[in-house]
Amino acid sequence: MKGYHGRFLNVDLNTNTLSDMPLDEDLLKKYVGGATLAAKLINGHIQQGMDPLAPESPLVFAAGPMTASTIPMVSRYAVCGISPLTGYWGEATSGGAFPFRLKQAGYDGIFITGKAGKPVYLYLDDGNAELRDAADLWGKDIYEAQEKLKAAIGRPNLGMALIGPAGEQLAKTAGVMNDAGRTAGRCGLGALMGSKNLKAVVATGKRRAEVADPERMRELTKEASTAIRQSIMAPALREYGTLMYTDLGMTLSDVPVKYFQKSVFPAAKLTGQALRQKYTVENFACMGCPIGCGREVKNFREGLDHVDGPEYETVIAFGPLCMNFDFDSIIEANYLCNAHGIDTISLGVSIAYAMYLYEKGILTKEKAGMEITWGDGPTIVKLVDMSIRQEGIGKLISQGTRKMAEAFGRDPSEAAQVKGMEMAMHDARAFTGMALSYATGPRGACHLKGDYYNVEIGSMVMEYNILPGDRFDSVGKAEMVAKYQNWKDLFDSLTLCKFAPYTPTLVCQIINALTGWDYTPEMLLETGERSIAVKRIISNKLGLTREEDKLPKICLEALKEGGSADKIPDMDLMLKEYYAYRKWDWETGKPAKEQLIALGLDEEAADIYA
Ligand code: SF4
Repeated sequence: MKGYHGRFLNVDLNTNTLSDMPLDEDLLKKYVGGATLAAKLINGHIQQGMDPLAPESPLVFAAGPMTASTIPMVSRYAVCGISPLTGYWGEATSGGAFPFRLKQAGYDGIFITGKAGKPVYLYLDDGNAELRDAADLWGKDIYEAQEKLKAAIGRPNLGMALIGPAGEQLAKTAGVMNDAGRTAGRCGLGALMGSKNLKAVVATGKRRAEVADPERMRELTKEASTAIRQSIMAPALREYGTLMYTDLGMTLSDVPVKYFQKSVFPAAKLTGQALRQKYTVENFACMGCPIGCGREVKNFREGLDHVDGPEYETVIAFGPLCMNFDFDSIIEANYLCNAHGIDTISLGVSIAYAMYLYEKGILTKEKAGMEITWGDGPTIVKLVDMSIRQEGIGKLISQGTRKMAEAFGRDPSEAAQVKGMEMAMHDARAFTGMALSYATGPRGACHLKGDYYNVEIGSMVMEYNILPGDRFDSVGKAEMVAKYQNWKDLFDSLTLCKFAPYTPTLVCQIINALTGWDYTPEMLLETGERSIAVKRIISNKLGLTREEDKLPKICLEALKEGGSADKIPDMDLMLKEYYAYRKWDWETGKPAKEQLIALGLDEEAADIYA
């Protein structure tokens, strides 16, 4: 087998047993790797109604065929399981050095079940694995735990993925952190890791998966580097990080403001340029990436010399969404989230919801124990801190907006989430394709599983005929959105950065040179469709129906200002077209049996239609 090591590590924390899980080449051809392969493996282990935090609930770390290859922008991994936040399929990805080290340790991924009797960490070193005591790491923040691990192991080139106190305390918005400030943030998978008493995975080694055609890989590595050099996005990402989008986003009414009730704000205060003008900013790059879109802020304040981030999503969530235009408090809130391992998007949206409820008099000073007013930076920082510590109103905020709406007896459609996961920082009224992508995406309101706003502003995929149109049109949008979701889902199978400017043909050529296979762009798109179908089936088994494929009312009320004033996507029409294109059953929300069989999912079809 080429391109892979051909094995996962199987970890049973109930019995402290570690063993090899061999991977069959036919399985890899069909599911490729990353989150898609994880979904296939997890589906075999879950039952209807499984509690995400039950010991038998699986947790998977997965690399892909491209991870640790010579191709740039591929040092990424996926963390997958049943989402503690939504109760449905959960996945999150991140980049950095950890994915590279995981693959170099000699494994394509790790499949974990059970619960350790006491805190442990998993150490992988050149094909060997062991569980080690983590008692002295429990309760430590990410930065401290990482330093302690480095000192205890005493070796260079360690990759680490770990949880902070938020994950240990099972906050439903907790993420898995790697390389300190990088986050596999969404779906609350940090709580799943915490429920297993697993503090960290540390990986190192020098193993390389064998490559089918090394000469061709050298040529393709040059081609990929040229594609990056010629990309218009690359210099903007390098200079301003993802914050390059702030002012364009506001011009398009794509930046949500004041808990999704407005779209106009003083954008110039929160751009990548403003960040550079106010602070000393350095770039952070995932291993093998020539762009380096990550931000590192130096000399932030006394006692905090070096802060990771913040990214666009974080800045908007703790910024305009809370009517806060002060970088200092946003950076401080981001630092706390990184240090304690919690998702900045879900937490930012939940804090904005608290402000909304406070303004309406539903959440009072007596109930909250404090005033919670719009735009108050120190209050945002305090609420982040209370969420991490599970103190007072922070405990409820850390469980997300759906739980908050329930606790205050509010209309559930006031909670800015889909399937229980909070909306990302792209407004559904600015792009109908984005609205549909949010409603139907495999993990809830996710901006990455079909960043359709990018198509509408010019990032078309010519080979699949995915082209921009009228961003406010609803008719005929569904097919384009579904195809784009299939394409983007593959990035998390291959473990390719979402910013990689590679065409489907180039991606196929790379897969084939790595593995010796004969993938075509059509096969690739079908693999994306299969991936989405497997994840859908998992969620169906866990209770998902069409009822959950909808946007909250708060994100669909017409805005009175900005570029999308008075525009509302026709969700009913788009959903009908989408269900027809995907061949999902309108009554049950399940993929049709014939469609599953057409995708080679015979076993899954038999299981879900038993
Ligand atoms: S563009 Fe950013 S996220 Fe993507 S690989 Fe490079 S540094 Fe990582």
